[in-house]
Amino acid sequence: MPPLDDHFKNSKERTGNAYEELHHWIDDNKIKAPEIHDLAKIHENIAYVHERWGEVAVQEFVLHIKEDLEHRLKENLQYFGLFK
Ligand SMILES: [Zn+2]
Repeated sequence: MPPLDDHFKNSKERTGNAYEELHHWIDDNKIKAPEIHDLAKIHENIAYVHERWGEVAVQEFVLHIKEDLEHRLKENLQYFGLFK
C-alpha cells in the first residue's frame, strides 16, 4: 500500500481536505483493513463511510482503494520487469 501521506496528499489536492481520519480508519487496524479494502464488501463500507464522513468522503474512500490497487499492480509488474 502507498504510505498514508500519499493518500492524504491526493485527497488534499482533489478536495482541499486530507481526510486523515478516513484514511487512518481504512489502513490502521491491521485486523479490519483487509475487510475494508475488500471489493466484495465495498457497498457496505461505502454506506458506513457515507454515514460517518459524508458524500465527498465516499469518493475519497473509493479512490484510496483504487490507489492501493494501482500501487500493488505497479509493484507486481516491476517485480517481473514489466514496468519501470
Ligand atoms: Zn489502503
